[in-house]
Amino acid sequence: MPLDAVTHVLSHPQGLEQCAAFLRTIPRAAQVHSFDPAEAMRAVAERADPSYAAIGSPEAADAHGLVVLRRGIADREENYTRFVVLAAKPIAVDVRVPCKTSLVLSTRHEEGALLRCLEILAGSGHSMTKLESRPRPGRPFEYLFFLDFEGNLADPRTQLVVDELRSAALYVKVLGSYPAKVTRSEPQPGQVRQLPATEALEAVVVRPPAPAKSSKRLVDRASRPDDTLVRIGDLLVGGDGFVVMAGPCSVESAEQVNATARAVRDAGAHVLRGGVFKPRTSPYAFQGMGWDGLALLAEAGRSVGLPIITEVMAVEQVAGMARVADVLQVGARNMQNFDLLRALGKVDRPVLLKRGLSSTIEEWLAAAEYILSAGNQQVILCERGIRTFESATRNTLDLSAVPVVRERTHLPVIVDPSHGTGQRRYVAPMSRAARAVGAHGLLIEVHPDPDTALSDADQSLDFTQFTALMASLGG
Ligand code: PEP
Ligand code: MN
Repeated sequence: MPLDAVTHVLSHPQGLEQCAAFLRTIPRAAQVHSFDPAEAMRAVAERADPSYAAIGSPEAADAHGLVVLRRGIADREENYTRFVVLAAKPIAVDVRVPCKTSLVLSTRHEEGALLRCLEILAGSGHSMTKLESRPRPGRPFEYLFFLDFEGNLADPRTQLVVDELRSAALYVKVLGSYPAKVTRSEPQPGQVRQLPATEALEAVVVRPPAPAKSSKRLVDRASRPDDTLVRIGDLLVGGDGFVVMAGPCSVESAEQVNATARAVRDAGAHVLRGGVFKPRTSPYAFQGMGWDGLALLAEAGRSVGLPIITEVMAVEQVAGMARVADVLQVGARNMQNFDLLRALGKVDRPVLLKRGLSSTIEEWLAAAEYILSAGNQQVILCERGIRTFESATRNTLDLSAVPVVRERTHLPVIVDPSHGTGQRRYVAPMSRAARAVGAHGLLIEVHPDPDTALSDADQSLDFTQFTALMASLGG
């Protein structure tokens, strides 16, 4: 059968991409995406038209009664795909059945960080059966580690070890526990039925994180004496560093966000902020530019070389935002949106958690624990003022929260004097005060023409005021 006759090649996009060099030799053939190679084969078999071909395995071709036109067409000979079978609901496996647990983790930015995680496993008697590294999506030169070890999450000892790993790593995603085909510790004879292989495949557990123990939470300083350093690109937030995030309350236009990005970068800011989904008190107020605004913010950040932070308001926005934004902000009004917090715990992106309008420090830390306990340890706290009887300022900036929080948790804490005071003339003095009391950074609203800002006009600084503030902070 001549390849010349082929006008359409069907496969999964990945399959087409992996055979790109071969496909270039038949340029007339249109590439058609299928859900998977098997579906492509089925479609070609049903059509029975010699101008339609599919890319897949010879075994699948055989199963569909297709003729193999050309073998070995992948660009790289050593191309392997690993499939993992996941169930939507956890299927518990009896603790007496030898099990393995799989998880994905990224390590903290400390010397010997991976070794510490491995020591936790080894020290608790869980033997590791696999360790592989893969590039971390969107983070050049950083790696995710895929780890399998002998253990079952239904066993409290394994649960404990996963809790310890959560605290030692930066991000942990538990894929689940499932019966191991080969393990060292066999069950007692006659005690437990071994699952047949097919059942074993289905028994992969996607287990929600266990509720944290009340005595020692992940967020507590007691569970981690060293400061957590949250990495944003080349930047580390926490420890001795002082990081300034600045930009408009809302992204309003390309010109507005580009001009602000340049000005705050030139003045020494480290991260560009900009709201695109705005939590406004009135539904008639400007609600933000949405995804179009995010694209403008991302482009502005890229062009001046600054990472970007923006507010995520809903669970459905998390995945899309995590692809584009370097830091995801949880606004004061969403501090106790527990579904949102849990969803943010599952992504490998730093989260800035603002203190709620009327939240105690304890409630704020408990909200952070929701994110940590779901796997993501990259949380930065942000004091942005609370509601008190005082009405001279928009909120009362609770700077005493900074030393309290630094004592109680290892997470970094920054201060937002813009929302904290609501008036631009108080922003600079409160910024200096925030630094003096030990904040790890600031979040400041800046606008090219503050009085015309579509949101938070009164508290936004112009470029000159922001530059003067940065100079006055020193170092
Ligand atoms: C903001 O950062 O623009 C914002 C809405 O902040 P907060 O959630 O603190 O009110
Ligand atoms: Mn604002």
